[in-house]
Amino acid sequence: MPANMLRKLLWRNFVFNQHYQLFIFQLKKFMVASLSKKLFLFFAPAVVLWACNGNGDNQNKTTNADSIATVQQNVVPATVDTPKSETVIAPPADSSLKTPVSTADAVMVDTTKKYVFLTFDDGPQGGTMNVYHNLKALGLKATFFMVGLHATYGNMRYAVDTIRDAYPQILLANHSYTHARDKYIEFYHNVPSCFDDFMQAQQSLDVRKKFIRLPGNSAWVLATGMLAHPLVKPVCELLDSAGYSVIGWDVEWSFKRDPSGHGSVPVQTPETMVKMVEYALDNHRTHRRNAVVLLSHDRMFNRPNYSDSLYKFMHLLKTRHPDYVFETVDHYPGAKKSL
Ligand SMILES: [Zn+2]
Repeated sequence: MPANMLRKLLWRNFVFNQHYQLFIFQLKKFMVASLSKKLFLFFAPAVVLWACNGNGDNQNKTTNADSIATVQQNVVPATVDTPKSETVIAPPADSSLKTPVSTADAVMVDTTKKYVFLTFDDGPQGGTMNVYHNLKALGLKATFFMVGLHATYGNMRYAVDTIRDAYPQILLANHSYTHARDKYIEFYHNVPSCFDDFMQAQQSLDVRKKFIRLPGNSAWVLATGMLAHPLVKPVCELLDSAGYSVIGWDVEWSFKRDPSGHGSVPVQTPETMVKMVEYALDNHRTHRRNAVVLLSHDRMFNRPNYSDSLYKFMHLLKTRHPDYVFETVDHYPGAKKSL
């Protein structure tokens, strides 16, 4: 073979090899990127929804949130004990609070006293009756924000009727019909259907007073003003026009998955919770001065030892602070007067 021909052949071979290697490199890069994207698309919604799983521990229901939570138990075991919260959509800063327009229709309270509003969300669930009996035993006032759908499981209707009949010591209030099925963004985007969901809960649970807590978000709609994240503001405005007060919270007793079984258990001890309530009141870390709203969930107190923890917390708070006034949320300062 002539030397120049051999040189050409070698050169072509070299160029081919370069292109071939570049091609293989690009192909590998593409495959890795594509696989990462697929994995991300597969797991991202599960991770987001798991974090948002506000009511996925009801023993009787089988919802999307439950199946997502089950998936997560398998894929991210390291985060199983992460404390959970009702907060999915962070509340806005106080700067967006509407200028008070009128106090004529607002609930007025004794401003020299300190008020505690105990609130229990997501019932009726296992744990609801334990909370009820503890409140009765201690003679304390509290509010249950219930979910319409949860009343359709087992004999949960009995718990709803018991809570409703316990007024004025205990107030039954509205926490939506579906709890957004834990798809919060979608839920709040569709304003008319979101509003209808609350109306369905109001009717099916036979809620007598117009007090609502939004699932996954701490928003406030009072006679004196509104504080709401832009996502929930349209529905808050609609609820406001329909005469509802929306009640957020200042302090939350967090929960986590029960390490020894199914369900949720409290994260903080009763003593810590007492300190958190005292701190919020003493340092004015509350939406309204001298009024603290504590959020917890019925299901945290399903097991007898945790029902005892709730009793201990409320007993400590009551005996250590005889000056604290326990009230239902229809007595929250600035709330709309509800018939
Ligand atoms: Zn909830």
